[in-house]
Amino acid sequence: SIMPATLAAVSNGAKRGVLFKGGVHLEHLGSLKAIAFDKTGTLTSGKPVVTDFIVRDGEDVNSSLALLASIESQSNHPLAIAIVKHAEEHGIVNRDNPQIEDVPGYGIRAFTDTGEVLVGNPRFVGKELIDDFHEGIVQKLSDEGKTVVFMKDSNGILAAIALKDTLRPEAVQAIKDLKNLGIQSIMLTGDNDKTAKAIAKEAGLDKFVAECLPEKKVEELKRLKTEYGEVGMVGDGINDAPALATATSGIAMGEGTDVALETADVVLMQNDLTRISYAVKVSRKMQRIVK
Ligand code: ADP
Ligand code: MG
Repeated sequence: SIMPATLAAVSNGAKRGVLFKGGVHLEHLGSLKAIAFDKTGTLTSGKPVVTDFIVRDGEDVNSSLALLASIESQSNHPLAIAIVKHAEEHGIVNRDNPQIEDVPGYGIRAFTDTGEVLVGNPRFVGKELIDDFHEGIVQKLSDEGKTVVFMKDSNGILAAIALKDTLRPEAVQAIKDLKNLGIQSIMLTGDNDKTAKAIAKEAGLDKFVAECLPEKKVEELKRLKTEYGEVGMVGDGINDAPALATATSGIAMGEGTDVALETADVVLMQNDLTRISYAVKVSRKMQRIVK
């Protein structure tokens, strides 16, 4: 049977934006030594905006953007939504709906009238091609914390598009609060090393793991558990669900995908990251009452 004190804490939590899916989850939070955070949609708003668009010499900017948007219009990835919006704002009307294949953690493979086109990160289109594309520009964009997505056709890299996501306003405070409770925060992201480093620095995080594919997030969680013992995971996406299930406490953002919300033990209903330290404090207090 559930203790009256637990019941009160769960009900207070709900009033203050934290949904505990049971008393046992409330208990776990107090023992966390480290918390892993997904980047996009968790530490950041997940609503990136396009900042730069660069095409291969001799290519038309508008038709390249139109091709990119027609491919991304078939995906519901946050980057895809931002790219389609950018194209619309530039008066580009989508006419084509090429057949596509989603490649999670990498991007999209499209089958267009003129052949296969890849849209995604350097690992997907081929890292060796990136260095030669408008010399050094990709490095510069990544150092600014921007995510760069590439489009490749049979002639090589056709275009690069940079997007900037913003940290959630309370992210820095939330990480600081956890540090004061003796909890180490680590960022896990599918994004590349340079972009990840810039965002981690902005958030005040000492540790991050970049190029973390969905299955690697689970591996990383297991590794962190060996290192720290009890480890939490905060995420929003479908690809975070396995890691949320592996963690001591799986924490989902309220605006996350259904799968993340279902898998998690705790939900941050208002997407407010400072609610994590609040929940940890409540849990530690509970442990003192119960014992
Ligand atoms: P995160 O861990 O940051 O939430 P994801 O695992 O969703 O990232 O994606 C990892 C990377 O794969 C992205 O940073 C991007 O480079 C690439 N990617 C995934 N889906 C798409 C897409 N629809 N369009 C372009 N790039 C994509
Ligand atoms: Mg995410």
